[in-house]
Amino acid sequence: MQARILDGKAIAAEVRAEWAQHAAEVHKQRGRAPSLAVVLVGEDPASKSYVRGKRKAAAEMGILSRDVDLPADTPEAALRDEVDKLNADPAIDAILVQLPLPAHVNADALLERIQPAKDADGFHPVNLGRMLLGQDCLLPCTPAGVMEILGRSQIKTQGTEVVIVGRSRTVGRPLANMLSAKSESANATVTLCHSATIDLAKHCRQADILIAAAGQARIITADMIKPGATVIDVGIHRIGTTPKGRPKLCGDVDFDTAKEVASAITPVPGGVGPMTIAMLMRNTVLAARK
Ligand code: NDP
Repeated sequence: MQARILDGKAIAAEVRAEWAQHAAEVHKQRGRAPSLAVVLVGEDPASKSYVRGKRKAAAEMGILSRDVDLPADTPEAALRDEVDKLNADPAIDAILVQLPLPAHVNADALLERIQPAKDADGFHPVNLGRMLLGQDCLLPCTPAGVMEILGRSQIKTQGTEVVIVGRSRTVGRPLANMLSAKSESANATVTLCHSATIDLAKHCRQADILIAAAGQARIITADMIKPGATVIDVGIHRIGTTPKGRPKLCGDVDFDTAKEVASAITPVPGGVGPMTIAMLMRNTVLAARK
């Protein structure tokens, strides 16, 4: 069997086109485009490249982005002041603080300082709590992107066994919540695996939908996949450089063997990654609407 490739890039383009229209409506109604402040602390090359992608996506969608680039040794108090200023600035609808932050900064405290209504990443405890309660909120981008890939690819989750490998606060845990929600677009039975799971392969083989978010390169091999399952690969790993000098990437799934067993699979790159950015832009427009 050769799996259907779930083209996250194409799906993200579709989502971005739709939300560019919503951005234009907001712009027309209030005379000002939705705006996103992107705070980058330090010179981490991967973070710089993610931030570049986010700023470019914003520009393409008619969303204003404000660059707040600060040196790695910026004191924590100065970062708090920066967030406070952006919270109070009526010209800013949404704020994103790029992670990871330098070791001297308490990331949780800084993210909690962002006003929930401007929380572009959907990481604020208020938004996570509202999500848990099924209330209107800004959703975390990567899990929301996975839901969007499944929905737009007509992959039913209702009644299925979903196994998620990884229980992080940003990916696995919120995704488990979204997929197990009482709703026709969710209604899955979810197993959340982690580093203390005994016999990971056994759990994975039971999955109709297997989601890999462990941050371990190619940890999911073909023998761990039930024939005909859908495989969503959230992981991103740099494993070298392409002949053109670009970073060579792989995911948490051994794609070449997995695609022979799965019925549908997301590639890396071009799977979940582009969706994360598209959902960030959606959150920015939603924040602007409020
Ligand atoms: P974290 O490191 O925060 O979490 C990893 C999770 O996987 C933890 O719950 C950990 O368990 C679990 N885990 C680690 N090793 C194993 C193992 N051998 N068996 C079972 N479980 C294991 O990672 P993130 O959630 O932030 O990210 C996961 C991956 O997704 C990374 O590769 C990251 O780069 C990528 N990512 C991609 C995004 C995108 O846009 N495509 C966005 C965000 C992340 P425990 O809790 O016990 O430690």
